[in-house]
Amino acid sequence: MDVVFLNARVCTPFELRDAAVLARDGRIEGVFGHIEPPAGARVIDARGMILAPGYIDLHVHGGGGRSVMEGEAEAVVEMANAHARRGTTAILPTTLSMPLPDMARAADAVGRAMRDERCLSTILGVHQEGPCLSPAQGGAQSTEALLTPSKADLRALVEDCPHLRMMGVAPELEGALALGRRLNDLGVVASVAHSDADYDTVAQAALSGFSDVTHLYSGCSSVVRKNAFRVAGVVEAGLEMESLTVQVIADGCHLPLPLLRLAYRCKGPEKMYAVTDGLEFAAAKQEEGVTYVQRNGQACVYEDGVMKLPSRAAFAGSVATMSRLVRTLAKAGIPLCDALRMATDTPARRVGAAKKGRVAAGYDADLLLLDEALKVRLVMAKGRIVFEGEEE
Ligand SMILES: [Zn+2]
Repeated sequence: MDVVFLNARVCTPFELRDAAVLARDGRIEGVFGHIEPPAGARVIDARGMILAPGYIDLHVHGGGGRSVMEGEAEAVVEMANAHARRGTTAILPTTLSMPLPDMARAADAVGRAMRDERCLSTILGVHQEGPCLSPAQGGAQSTEALLTPSKADLRALVEDCPHLRMMGVAPELEGALALGRRLNDLGVVASVAHSDADYDTVAQAALSGFSDVTHLYSGCSSVVRKNAFRVAGVVEAGLEMESLTVQVIADGCHLPLPLLRLAYRCKGPEKMYAVTDGLEFAAAKQEEGVTYVQRNGQACVYEDGVMKLPSRAAFAGSVATMSRLVRTLAKAGIPLCDALRMATDTPARRVGAAKKGRVAAGYDADLLLLDEALKVRLVMAKGRIVFEGEEE
């Protein structure tokens, strides 16, 4: 089946240009200055709207009322589909720290969902956020499930899980550097996560396979004073070290606009990417002031467009969609192509999704039409139109 987009402002996402795009059997045939639509093709007049690559979310726990931690393929498919209808065409479902058998079961469910034909988008694998995280930076992770790598048998989550793509680990824990090397050898992204490490420990981690920082500023140590001396932490290491990419929850709550600009200035669009960290309440309607309970038993309150711990002392995760993150990045003054790149090409490269994240010949036909307000008007995933209309 051929689909032709005419009169589009194509964001490749390295440049914006007026062009037409032909999608055939799930792939992009080409980007053309002008094209005569082939006979039988569906022709979509973009009327000057932006045609962008589909969004890619590498850190997301749920959506549409379903959570990865249910441990069921159907839940993973439904969460992926809820995000797909809002523009996320490739997704890396992410676990929460729970007892090891629960995390293994969740990973297994993701594996089955990857082969499920009901899934509208592409499931890229699984992201294990934990269980080797620092209790001091636990945030909304359930602290009783946290383990030290040297004491935990992680084979079920690591070697026995061929679709593991990313694992969040606090590098200061005993055995964490060996785990980083082990992950790196398997081609899995080792991400500094929920960590209280100082700069020197992160620098060591970067030499031991760690190459990413999980949601910069959230669950991250920052500058502290030890006697008269200031000691840099995970935040500064993430900003300063060239070998590290950083995730940002660019919902406008977790990180205010100046910090998004600061991260962008330090990292640029190649080394920084947007993640929702969405809970099961993401990509769904929430009511202000209502308390919700997550699958790991953690309660949270919806307030000010974000989920908070009941104490209101910290955020518990987001309800954002990738679409909202892109609008926030643009609102921060980041040029449109770079904002889109951090939601498409950069996350694709990060997990080696070679055919994703660009509008170019040979890439997967994962495409979005965005209006002037950057609201999603059409979603094509794997060559199929899965949403048309006005974004909620
Ligand atoms: Zn998370």
